[in-house]
Amino acid sequence: MIPYGHQKINNDDIEAVVSALKSDWITQGPLVKEFEDKISEYCGSKYAVAVSSGTAALHCAYYAAGIKNGDEVIMPAQTFIATSNAVLYLGAKPVFCDIDLETCNIDTSLIEGLITKKTKAIVPVHIAGEPCNMDEILKIADKYNLVVIEDACHALGSEYKGKKIGSISDMTVFSFHPVKSITTGEGGVICTDNKEYYNAMCNFRTHGISQQEESERKIKEPWYFEMQDLGYNYRITDFQCALGKTQLSKLNNFIEKRKKIAKYYNDTLKNINGLVLPAFNNSNTSSLHLYIVRVDKNIRREVFTKLRGAGIGVQVHYIPVYHHPYYRKNGFDNFSLHNTEKYYETCISLPIYPDLKQKDQDFVIEKLKDFIYD
Ligand SMILES: *Cc1c(COP(=O)(O)O)cnc(C)c1O
Repeated sequence: MIPYGHQKINNDDIEAVVSALKSDWITQGPLVKEFEDKISEYCGSKYAVAVSSGTAALHCAYYAAGIKNGDEVIMPAQTFIATSNAVLYLGAKPVFCDIDLETCNIDTSLIEGLITKKTKAIVPVHIAGEPCNMDEILKIADKYNLVVIEDACHALGSEYKGKKIGSISDMTVFSFHPVKSITTGEGGVICTDNKEYYNAMCNFRTHGISQQEESERKIKEPWYFEMQDLGYNYRITDFQCALGKTQLSKLNNFIEKRKKIAKYYNDTLKNINGLVLPAFNNSNTSSLHLYIVRVDKNIRREVFTKLRGAGIGVQVHYIPVYHHPYYRKNGFDNFSLHNTEKYYETCISLPIYPDLKQKDQDFVIEKLKDFIYD
């Protein structure tokens, strides 16, 4: 099977992990901070907090933003369920905004219409790595005093108008799951320039134990530590961060490889009747996490099934969040968004990853053409 995404692990990655395992530290050692520093340097943020997954990172960021019971958070439904689930963890409510059909990103012209007194934050998701219209989102957030948290799990290495994703809004969340730009096995990180958010997230990832204050009591009882709020164990390990460091050093090279693959798809698949290629904004640079094409909804199922049958691990990104039975049962029973549905009915993600071989890509292209014309 040719998968739609795959990690690239080399000897230097393996050696770095082995060497971390042989050190005194297995979990919270020096490599966590070293990895965080490398990430914030790469992304152009003051701080970075590394945690156990992208989902944990979303939970930390939402918590730091002060999202709580009864609050509303505006986001697209064309995303992975974690974007929305982490809002539910805090007792808040996701408010789903429709998307722009060209990019599959949040349609910024619809955001203001969804803002209420309860709205706390906007969560844009950079689908496939293509940045959302951040200027517009920041303008709206500024006007209504909302926090902006980017779900950039697809977009490590993407740029928006010359700025790296991770340096633009209040907080930016990345994932290091194996299909993403780089991997730590499981893992995630939040970039921010805000010291208060940074401190809140450091505490939240380790049970809510204060990492900052030196209390009076600690002077009398040197073993004393203080839990000030309810947190979780969202720590990432040192050996994962060893992998993260070597992976990050190769990120630009990985993205170059993805760009070549995307360009080849663009060149060989253009002008095919019934096939819509992904849209790229020329002033942005995409990390090209996914390559999503669209076909007529009447043939999508057949094309998908035949590609799978030919050993091509195509995927559908995404089933709208509100389709899931849990959401249907919890307030979204008759909910529907026009473009979100339209996108969902027609999309297919083709294989794209640094090690995708030319002959495999040619095979994908050949089969896709065959099955569309069948
Ligand atoms: C992968 C992903 C997540 C979750 O990240 P994990 O590391 O798997 O927890 C959240 N949002 C989006 C858009 C993702 O692609």
